[in-house]
This record gives sequence, structure tokens and C-alpha cells, in this order.
Amino acid sequence: MAVIKKTPAEIEAMKEAGRISAKVLREAGRIVKPGISTLEIDQFVERMIRMEGGIPAFKGLYGFPGSICASVNDAVVHGIPSASVILQEGDIISIDTGATVDGWVGDNAWTYAVGTISPEKQRLLDVTEKCMWAGLDAARVGNRLGDIGAAVQSIAEAAGYGVVREYVGHGVGRVMHEDPNVPNYGRKHTGLKLDVGMVLAIEPMINMGTHRTKVMDDGWLVCTTDGMPSAHFEKMVAITEDGPVIITTEPDHKRPVG
Ligand code: MG
Repeated sequence: MAVIKKTPAEIEAMKEAGRISAKVLREAGRIVKPGISTLEIDQFVERMIRMEGGIPAFKGLYGFPGSICASVNDAVVHGIPSASVILQEGDIISIDTGATVDGWVGDNAWTYAVGTISPEKQRLLDVTEKCMWAGLDAARVGNRLGDIGAAVQSIAEAAGYGVVREYVGHGVGRVMHEDPNVPNYGRKHTGLKLDVGMVLAIEPMINMGTHRTKVMDDGWLVCTTDGMPSAHFEKMVAITEDGPVIITTEPDHKRPVG
């Protein structure tokens, strides 16, 4: 599949899917607390996406049953929301939300603290968020895909963390996963040339320990092999003449409230 570049008008149109995806992600973070189940968060997000005029983009995608992915502690990505996964004080939870509006897909993720978390977990969140912003900032004409990966990897590994290899960012448009794949590792000045009109989801998945992951028995949930925590932050960015433009954002809220 070739990379599908978007016109300026198409990028404008994508911003509504991005806004709703970002809003529900921020609001989901506000209800994260000890005692809530990931299914309750899922139902809250699905209602809000539909109220805003969107369609949950994950529901049914490849057969996924939820409107969010909810991945707690050593879970990296793709956790199925469940009534039996109850958040506990000190957990971290990656919530991934996506909304489709007018046929355009939005996709973003944030890792939230449940109550008070350890300084070690807080550092993992801080570094992974920093990795995401560095990756987004590298989404510029003149750079290559490897510049995004190198930006993310260098920060993560300098902090002593593992960069997940098996799951990567991606192009986004009328479908969730378009070309190109956007790895969170790589070498500067290598790979596909970035060009105006590309819209990419940049989503570092960073592990406190080993970078290695395993898929659990439900066929979805991905966990670290060493049981150490993992964090995941994601935003969509459009590459424009004027630099990176964040698509998954609310005009009134520059960043989700953690
Ligand atoms: Mg994604």
C-alpha cells in the first residue's frame, strides 16, 4: 500500500475526528480513579464519542470489541476493556481512543496515573511523553522516518528504558492503519522521506525494563515479558509546509489533563 497524502482541505477535515478523539481521551483521564473498571471507562468513552457525533473507530476493527484499548501496568497495548479489570491505587493505565467523523479517523493515547504512583512510574510516564513530543517534532519535511524513530529511541534508551519493537506508529486517514509504519526506533537520515500531506500517528510504547513483549491468551493483550510497567502516548500529526500540525487536539486544550 502506498502512502496516501492528504490535501490541506483533507487535513482540515481530519481535525474534527482528532478533536473528538482528544476530548474523549482527556475526559477519560478525568474519571480514572481507584475502583473503576476499564469497562466503565470504555462505556463512558463510547457514549461521549457518539454524543459528539463520531463513531468509535476501534470497535469492530479487526474484531476488537471495545471503544478504547485499556492497558494497565505491564500491559503495553490492546487491552480489552473488562468489568473484571478494576483500577488500583498506584496503577498506570494507557487509554487509547479513536473516533471516526465524516469518514476520517482520529487516534490518540495517553497513560494516566491511578491515584498516587511511585516516582519510578512517574518518571516512565514523563520520559515516554517526552519521547512522543520529540517524535512529533521530527515530523518535518526534509526529515526521514528514521529521524522520528531516532528521536524517540535516543530519549528512551538514555533513560534506561526499552523501546517496543513489535508495535509501531502508522499513517492514518480514512482507515486507522495506513502506510507507512512509524517505528519508535531507527537511525537518523534513513528511511522514507517525509513529505507535505502525510498524516502520521506517532505512538511511543516504552517499557521500564526489557523491550520484549508477548501476546496474552485472549489474542489481544500485549504485555512486557518481564512484568515491568509500560507506558504509551500517541498523537496524530500532519506534515505541512509550516511544520508539524497536531491533529488530535482540542482548540481550547493544548494537552490532555493527566
Ligand atoms: Mg495508533
